[in-house]
Amino acid sequence: MDEAATRKLLVELSASLFARGFAVGSAGNISVRIDDGFLITPTNSSLGRLNAERISKLDTNFAHVGGDKPSKEVFMHRAFYLARPDAGAVVHLHSTMATAVACLADVDAGSPIPPLTPYFVMRIGKMLPVVAYYRPGDPAMEPAIHDAARQARAVLLANHGPVVSAASLTDAVYAAEELEEAAKLFLLLRGQSTRELTAPQVQDLLSTFG
Ligand SMILES: [Zn+2]
Repeated sequence: MDEAATRKLLVELSASLFARGFAVGSAGNISVRIDDGFLITPTNSSLGRLNAERISKLDTNFAHVGGDKPSKEVFMHRAFYLARPDAGAVVHLHSTMATAVACLADVDAGSPIPPLTPYFVMRIGKMLPVVAYYRPGDPAMEPAIHDAARQARAVLLANHGPVVSAASLTDAVYAAEELEEAAKLFLLLRGQSTRELTAPQVQDLLSTFG
């Protein structure tokens, strides 16, 4: 896909996320790898109203080379791309349900959402590390995300929200949506006796689709 088509797709998928309430105000940012660097949503932009020509462009060293000023959370994206050479796109949201799970005190910090459905396992995998809380803009957040992203396709930033990667832009958006739905199911079912996928069932999904 060429750069113009990627810009158009980024506008389209972002607007769709916004329209369905996965992002509000100017929250959330999305990046995608292109031939000569990266595209990322600009700082203070709303995912609901992006302009394809004004999307920020970064070179392969993440330096700003075109479009509006990039998101202040660009370092989260850099942490993922450097930790995961297979990542083609990164989606960061403050979506309600995943952020709610990121605020729970008594969850497993390696996989806070249990494997309730195969789609969650297929899109996110076995691990969803919870990265400790950092004040927005704290430079210590980048190495913490980098370490967590080396072992997982997605992480939850404590008291902040999810960061999700995938091979393509469309897949990263779908994975962020699947994570939000899985978080919703988990919260709906909390305190009830549930039937989780078994370890062999999870392994079977990972070896078939992982
Ligand atoms: Zn954020």
